[in-house]
Amino acid sequence: MTESRGPIGDMPMLIGGDLVASESGRWMDSIDPATEEVLGRVPQGTAQDVDRAVAAAEKAQPGWAALSIAERAGYLHRVADALEARAADILRIEVLDTGNTIAKMRADVGKASAQIRLFAGLGGELKGSTIPATAGNLHFTLREPYGVVGRIMPFNHPINFAASRMAAPLIAGNTMVGKPSDQSPLSAGILARMAAEVLPPGVLNIVTGTGAEAGAALARHPRVKRLAFTGSVQTGMAVQRIAAEGAVKAVTLELGGKNPMSVFPDADYDRALAAAVAGMNLGVTGQSCSSITRLFLHEDLHDRFLADLAGRVSRLRVGDPMADDTQMGPVNSRAQYEKVMSHIEAARAEGARLVTGGKRPPGAQFARGFWVEPTIFADVTPEMQLAREEVFGPVLAVFRWSDLEETVAIANSLHYGLTGAVWTRDLGRALHTARRLQSGHVWVNGTAGRYRGVPFGGYRNSGHGREESLDELLSYTEEKAVNVILG
Ligand code: NAD
Repeated sequence: MTESRGPIGDMPMLIGGDLVASESGRWMDSIDPATEEVLGRVPQGTAQDVDRAVAAAEKAQPGWAALSIAERAGYLHRVADALEARAADILRIEVLDTGNTIAKMRADVGKASAQIRLFAGLGGELKGSTIPATAGNLHFTLREPYGVVGRIMPFNHPINFAASRMAAPLIAGNTMVGKPSDQSPLSAGILARMAAEVLPPGVLNIVTGTGAEAGAALARHPRVKRLAFTGSVQTGMAVQRIAAEGAVKAVTLELGGKNPMSVFPDADYDRALAAAVAGMNLGVTGQSCSSITRLFLHEDLHDRFLADLAGRVSRLRVGDPMADDTQMGPVNSRAQYEKVMSHIEAARAEGARLVTGGKRPPGAQFARGFWVEPTIFADVTPEMQLAREEVFGPVLAVFRWSDLEETVAIANSLHYGLTGAVWTRDLGRALHTARRLQSGHVWVNGTAGRYRGVPFGGYRNSGHGREESLDELLSYTEEKAVNVILG
């Protein structure tokens, strides 16, 4: 392992501009998934901590909303500047805490600051409209902030989610309470320190802790009217239920997927092959919501494509995520490791054909830590668990197809609908297929890319609402209609 490994220490929460411990005095360890060593600690926040954070956010909100959009944008740019200035620090913490590779995570701080600057620039779009409803009177709408926004985040891209997703609520004049994942929460501590230096007290608050305690308290809080959640379908459904116990709330959900990619016989073979590897997102050990996890190969190219794909995937360098040339690290946690292994066992038991991977890599270096080889199963059929459930790990299910109607029906047969990809040189066929995929985000001759300002979000149980776009900004506002009766 490289020298830059080593403990990170305690990362306090941020409440009302102060870096604090939990009122409970409890702390939670964060584990390095490559070594199983304790890296650092965060406070184990309670419902009382969440309440304090909401009160601080409430207190700060009128003053924050009274600033001009240009002034709020100025603050956001200063947060982005601070992120960029500490990029090296953040990168080290993020790689150690997540197990995602340094090569992949280098982009994440840049992505977060780019999103912050995007929303800082979109502030002028917080506009209403005039409606010619009656003769002689004036009817217009205003976009106003909700007040305090709650945001609950997943483990896979911690700093990107923590930093970039505060921009839209804040530019719209809301203040915020964020709850990072209990797995990999350390980089949110750096964001807390930066926000304490750069933002007025109470505008951004960060409460760490478990989902069951701090997360549920935030979801339920009666004075948090707008809640945004990113995580699994199962937790997203629980969050909807818990939120409804506290108040009538606007809830958006960015959830899991089981994303299909279909390769037609006329596809650009080399590009499609590279895209199938890239789509597995192995730099984050497959732990990306948008990963391609169901690959439908037309029978004319199936055997050759599968052999070439397995060759490429099996040659990837698995190892220390801090090393520049590593292409895949460990999965994020013991729980995640056990979940991935149980899916692999189920696939074997149900008769899927293991083409490569399927176990902990050999060698002393991998004896400790949450390591799984990049894994491909072929001859997967629609009723198998591997065909139906999100693994959230480095595991790909390959199907053979000949009939397009049947393939689209299988692709659409799940309760997920996040992303999908179609590979063919026939643009008419590509668009026809793209239109029929029940997914919120479709690539034609692409995979894995996310594009500035393009909405991202799921159909079906993959979520509700769109992010990374103007829709996200407007979703943090309520619309007020004003009717001026002129007599
Ligand atoms: P998770 O659902 O286990 O946890 C997400 C967050 O919810 C964590 O902060 C957790 O502490 C909190 N939580 C857990 N129980 C809670 C409760 N009862 N009340 C309130 N909060 C609670 O998800 P995860 O394992 O961190 O992330 C992986 C999942 O996230 C995958 O399904 C992945 O597809 C999805 N994801 C989706 C997107 C997207 O944009 N659609 C992006 C990233 C990840």
